[in-house]
Amino acid sequence: MHTNIKRFLTPILFVLYLCHTAQAGITDYHQTFIPGFANDHFQIAIRTYYKDNNAYFLVVNPDTLATYEVPANKFRERRDMTERLNPPRYYTWERIKSKPYINALLNYTSSPLIFEKNKNQGITHAEYATEGMFLTIDMCPSTKYFDKALFQSLVKLSNEKQQPIPIAIAISGLWLLEHQDEFNWIAEQIKQNKLAVTWINHSFSHVYYGDLALEKNFLLFPYTNITLEILETEKILLENGQLPSVFFRFPGLISNKEWMLQLQKFGLIPIGSNAWLAAQQDAKGGSIILVHGNSNEPEGIKLLMPLINQQLNEWLPITALLRSQPKSK
Ligand SMILES: [Zn+2]
Repeated sequence: MHTNIKRFLTPILFVLYLCHTAQAGITDYHQTFIPGFANDHFQIAIRTYYKDNNAYFLVVNPDTLATYEVPANKFRERRDMTERLNPPRYYTWERIKSKPYINALLNYTSSPLIFEKNKNQGITHAEYATEGMFLTIDMCPSTKYFDKALFQSLVKLSNEKQQPIPIAIAISGLWLLEHQDEFNWIAEQIKQNKLAVTWINHSFSHVYYGDLALEKNFLLFPYTNITLEILETEKILLENGQLPSVFFRFPGLISNKEWMLQLQKFGLIPIGSNAWLAAQQDAKGGSIILVHGNSNEPEGIKLLMPLINQQLNEWLPITALLRSQPKSK
């Protein structure tokens, strides 16, 4: 009898599971590049996908670098509606590339190497003089519990300042899959307006081998599936109700020319750091601070805490790194 029930129930449960994943899941997630008009502004669609069987675009506002989900039927593609010309004209590449987003994308993925070869490429500090700092917290895959004390101190700061604290979390897909409860806790702080999080793509697997040279390690490992490493983490973020941003942080800050060109194609700006606290790099105005929030680098958190507790410090959103952006977000 028991076995019969089981035999009867198993296919039903399986079908229910499939229905559930089909409803909540994001499917056909692809790179694209389509200029268009949505939310009353010029936007560039950088991803296409289906959610609940409806077609969507992930778009970026090329002035503010903010991203949005837009249903495909609300996106007016190709023709420039910004100037309200009748009939509207096609966008020109000249106009597109004059925008802060494209300007930064081309600049930080194709500029000559500034630092030691393949290391810390991309933007490492604000393009303008500021007292404010940018906090980036890396969530590489880890079996440990996340650094809740760090996040709680940010929530405490938010309560004191009565405003959400802007931070950027560089998240790997594997960390998210293995730490769903902790991720949900962070999502709840966002919902409660305690944290204003920009999600930086930190690859999916974040592979690392203790016995390989850096030029073959991390994402430079020969068997790496570049498309999956980029798109899968974004897809998981969307499935969890969060918006991917246009920023990418290389695991170990290690990249190469091929990867930089791939990032450019996928519309992602590499984020380095000039203040990796645990590596003895001090933070100052305009710094992109790097710490680990996955409990893998407690010495960095120890150095960060006094900066968080110093209420006068101003924390800026990572979307405000560029010189040429309009002031308001
Ligand atoms: Zn990492």
